[in-house]
Amino acid sequence: MICGLKTRELCDHCLGRLVARIGHGYSNDQRGRLIRESFGMQEVRSADCKLCQGLFDRLDEYAVSVKNRLEGLSYRTFAIGSRYDPTVIEREENIWSECGSEFAEPIKVEMNREIGKRVEKLTGKSTDTRNPDVTAIIDVNFLQVDLEISSLFVYGRYLKYDRTIPQTRWPCRKCRGKGCKRCNFTGKMYQESVEELIRKEFMLATGAEESALHGMGREDIDARMLGNGRPFILELKRPKTREIDLESIEQATNRANEGRVMIFDLRMASKEEVRRIKEAEPEKSYRVTIEFPEPVPCAKLLNAFGSLRQSPIEQRTPTRVAHRRADRIRTRFVKEIELESLDANVATIRLRTSSGTYVKELIHGDGGRTKPSLAELLAMNVSVRQLDVIGVHDEEGEVDGQGVEGN
Ligand SMILES: [Zn+2]
Ligand SMILES: [Zn+2]
Repeated sequence: MICGLKTRELCDHCLGRLVARIGHGYSNDQRGRLIRESFGMQEVRSADCKLCQGLFDRLDEYAVSVKNRLEGLSYRTFAIGSRYDPTVIEREENIWSECGSEFAEPIKVEMNREIGKRVEKLTGKSTDTRNPDVTAIIDVNFLQVDLEISSLFVYGRYLKYDRTIPQTRWPCRKCRGKGCKRCNFTGKMYQESVEELIRKEFMLATGAEESALHGMGREDIDARMLGNGRPFILELKRPKTREIDLESIEQATNRANEGRVMIFDLRMASKEEVRRIKEAEPEKSYRVTIEFPEPVPCAKLLNAFGSLRQSPIEQRTPTRVAHRRADRIRTRFVKEIELESLDANVATIRLRTSSGTYVKELIHGDGGRTKPSLAELLAMNVSVRQLDVIGVHDEEGEVDGQGVEGN
């Protein structure tokens, strides 16, 4: 038959698996039986199979172990994984090298699928190999089942009105999070963060063990985040329950953080979306209040704005972030810039820039590291009094985000 004697020592599962990729609508043991019968071969029971040595006789047993382990857990979908003695894999590879593996399927894949079918029947839940709520990994020798509970991902946008909190937890620089005198043994540089304020209700509702906030960029600690808000995905790690009421969480979160942080547009998200959020490069709008050492004529200021709009901005990594970002020059653009008010030596301006622009440096010049800058064009020291992000121009935010107007 297909190749040599060895196939005469395989059970229907293991025989059929050699041609698993040919034809649809059959399980491997059905394929195996068809081949065997058409070649007039003797049936080999799984227990006598030279490859699996009885593994396929134990499918029901494995399924029950998985079902028992999953009991009491909150999940809708699951995936099965399995661990084997390395000699099983070795035997399979030997057969492949003799018979070819072009149409073959690894034993793991068939076992996982067959156990999965049985677990579906026992639990009434469905398998999802791409995005399961939980993965049950069974050791086929010891019947031990380990669970990998997938994170829950919630998308939303946040506003930040508080100029004293960072976006995410910030480990103490001195002790690196272990706790020391400087951080009052909290391990943190700042006692609170947007992440900690936002996550509280989610942690309570899900019983998650840990969290991570994935933001579409971040604002400075002393900057407010206004307008249509900043997109984020809150990852809740190892949740105990996955059924949550986003609306009531949103309300409770906003009540508890009134005047500091607000969240909205919540919906469930996926792991894949985290990458989209992290890699997005939206333009952003800002309102900045700046101060000059002496009154500046309006015409002179508008003239400088014109120059900023027209030329690419070369920004060398600012001194203040040099410890965590590579020192190099990045080219950015000022898309829009306009004067909102000018009162002697204080002006409020609005501007829209390409993603990644260091706006404070664009104003004060960072000792010549940003060129051109408003300070350079005006030939004077310009300082930033206050800065707010008033718009994140990502796709989703532009479509339906009217948001809350900054003031
Ligand atoms: Zn077999
Ligand atoms: Zn410390």
